[in-house]
Amino acid sequence: MNGIKIFDSIRNIEITINNHKEEIEKLDQEIGDGDHIFNILRGLQELLNLKDKLVDETSDQIFKQLGMKIMTTVGGSSGALFATLLIGMSKKFNPELNDLNNLSEMFYEGVESMKKRGKSDIGEKTMLDVLIPVSKTLINLKDESNISKVAEKIIIVAKDGMLSTKDIIATKGRASFLGERAKGHIDPGARSSQLAIEAICNQFINN
Ligand code: ADP
Ligand code: MG
Repeated sequence: MNGIKIFDSIRNIEITINNHKEEIEKLDQEIGDGDHIFNILRGLQELLNLKDKLVDETSDQIFKQLGMKIMTTVGGSSGALFATLLIGMSKKFNPELNDLNNLSEMFYEGVESMKKRGKSDIGEKTMLDVLIPVSKTLINLKDESNISKVAEKIIIVAKDGMLSTKDIIATKGRASFLGERAKGHIDPGARSSQLAIEAICNQFINN
């Protein structure tokens, strides 16, 4: 893990999200207020703008600074939550571990911080329906030596998590105001998180 790889991942996420922006916008128009795609793209752009400044810093510093940038520039629930994820990840960074071990521990911690911040858990029709199963699967697979195999498994887990948001009601976020009417719609945050995870996994598969 280093600055170049971290910023490459952000760039790949931005490309994927951009390719799905109409879809994500529509999902948040259906069960939210429509701004999710704007919040996400704004955040990604702010992060990419920090590349020259941060690329040579240690990875924990990079994650922390990225989180703080999101916290101060991106609105919506997703801004605060993704900032919390990144700052949580920075706290667990351990340069002694190999990348998969390190990333698994960091991501698990980040997701736990997010759960606390959003007072939310799995099954509430949010991005956590993607992030929690992914973090648990990563911990289970952290000693696997075939990285492509891990990445392929994570892609499936993220997709299943995203699809699981479709037929449930929301108990957190704006979609919770809709009650039963939210059923039949995929959660926008779950879709954007799943796409981001898929983009990172593809990077590992192609390398
Ligand atoms: P807002 O809902 O404030 O307009 P966004 O549109 O940017 O913010 O993000 C909406 C997404 O945030 C939802 O689709 C959901 O996945 C996620 N979300 C909302 N509230 C929570 C929460 N308490 N915990 C986890 N995720 C949440
Ligand atoms: Mg919104």
